[in-house]
Amino acid sequence: MKTKFTKKSCIKTAIVIGSISLSLLFPDRPKSLNSNSLAEPSKRIAQIPPFGNPPPHLLKPPKPQIQPSPAATPTPQPAAAQPLVFAPPTQFRSQIVYKASISDSKVIALTFDDGPTAETLKILAVLQKHNAVATFFCLGANLRENPEIAKQVVKAGNAIGNHTWHHFYHNVTEKTASDEIDNTGVHIYRSTGAKSLLFRPPGGRLNNGFADYAKKKNYVVVMWSIDPKDFSQPPAAAIARSVLSQATSGAIVLLHDGGGDRQQTVEAVSAIIPKLKQQGYRFVTVPQLLQMQADQKQQNGDRKPK
Ligand SMILES: [Zn+2]
Repeated sequence: MKTKFTKKSCIKTAIVIGSISLSLLFPDRPKSLNSNSLAEPSKRIAQIPPFGNPPPHLLKPPKPQIQPSPAATPTPQPAAAQPLVFAPPTQFRSQIVYKASISDSKVIALTFDDGPTAETLKILAVLQKHNAVATFFCLGANLRENPEIAKQVVKAGNAIGNHTWHHFYHNVTEKTASDEIDNTGVHIYRSTGAKSLLFRPPGGRLNNGFADYAKKKNYVVVMWSIDPKDFSQPPAAAIARSVLSQATSGAIVLLHDGGGDRQQTVEAVSAIIPKLKQQGYRFVTVPQLLQMQADQKQQNGDRKPK
């Protein structure tokens, strides 16, 4: 035992002396490296742990061993959740509009009142078929019954507006107007996630308290310039003829997707849209229409000599 121990000690001593000699010969050798690294410098670099602590003045950071993955499409950052708002430009707030004044392009806004109902889905199908959008003035009572339909209206790119809860024609107190309009606004938001500053008074009545309250609350009161009287269910051809004969750029058309069977309206819209498209019209929502008027005014203002 004793002899073996002495022999081992001798070998150890030799190794230590050898190491010291090598250290003297290669004073810059990093202490963390093993002996193999000295013989093969390229291997040595590869063996350095990527996030270790190599002497910075000696070694470049090693290249990563992992093959780079194919260029990934950057993941889009989710937009901050902001409610959709159907609001016309500020100059129209608290105002009554019948049509927009647009001379530099042919645009028209179809509007549908008294939904959402099962009839709304038929109108939506026609709009989608022709890649057109419209504005739907909804009743709170129907929104409560058909929130999913309202959701589809907005999802398809249409605008939504407030048409009160009960569709009263009689004079109302400010308290009733507030209940009718505010609660409908709440249900527009609940069903679609959208807020709207578009208001259409039931029956187009401007003097029974609703329009005054809506104006006070910053809504734009949206009337119309073309009324084909579709509510009384004339033949589809008559509705279509009425709209086509009165069509002008900036017009707002009154139609209905509630209040009973709207088959004639659905058929009329199926005829109106392709005909007007042939004439060069585009179909836009009421907020888009009013924005176009605001933009055109701005551009004309810019062109005026100073
Ligand atoms: Zn109505």
